[in-house]
Amino acid sequence: MDETHAMQGLRAPDLLRLLEAGHGRGPLDRGLLLLEHASPRADLDSLWSMSLAERDRRLVALRRATFGSAMEVTTRCPECETALETPMDLRWLSELPAPDDPMTVHEHGGLRFRLPSTLSLMKALSSPDDPRRALLRGTLETPDPKDLDDEQVDRLAPELAAAWEAVDPMAEVRLDFRCVGCEATFQRVFDIAETFYAEVEAYGRRLLLDIHALASAYGWTEDEVLALGPVRRRLYVDMVSA
Ligand SMILES: [Zn+2]
Repeated sequence: MDETHAMQGLRAPDLLRLLEAGHGRGPLDRGLLLLEHASPRADLDSLWSMSLAERDRRLVALRRATFGSAMEVTTRCPECETALETPMDLRWLSELPAPDDPMTVHEHGGLRFRLPSTLSLMKALSSPDDPRRALLRGTLETPDPKDLDDEQVDRLAPELAAAWEAVDPMAEVRLDFRCVGCEATFQRVFDIAETFYAEVEAYGRRLLLDIHALASAYGWTEDEVLALGPVRRRLYVDMVSA
């Protein structure tokens, strides 16, 4: 299965619309905005209830179709605070096995559950309860979370998180890092939605600077500048700023 062939990458006007639509919004909203582009035929309700693991699988495909498979992941060493930029190839994420139906109720290790979705995570975050506990209660079917007190839910937490990963390895992607400063090794959870949106935002801002420069120099409209395509746009910007 290679979704990147079928998937249409984001074009310059899409990037600007995403920059605008995501302005001041939280990470879940931004993830959903990206997901709409990655799933053009899906209705909004099904995107809300799609598992975050499946969302991330589609966002990886959209990211690869837009910017390619090479990505720089920035992080900070927990030991010596050195800022690290680590190259990563996204292709291995597209090769992780996917469950046949990521939206269904899964069974693993005696538990029955749904994978967390944008909707269940959003509900958990706005719940008066501890968000992690609310998420576990919101996704667990058997045992019935209504029969469990908080302590029992907390005890089930590691088991349920492991079950999520067992049915879909995209549920939590951890990356290994080695610090170039002090050689420390550590792991970080990789969030494709947040990383990809940050790239969209940075690219969109550079586009706006280009539009500003060319509109000021030649009186072209935004549409006219975007219609140039990246190579001619870059050449004109170089001439204007020479
Ligand atoms: Zn370090």
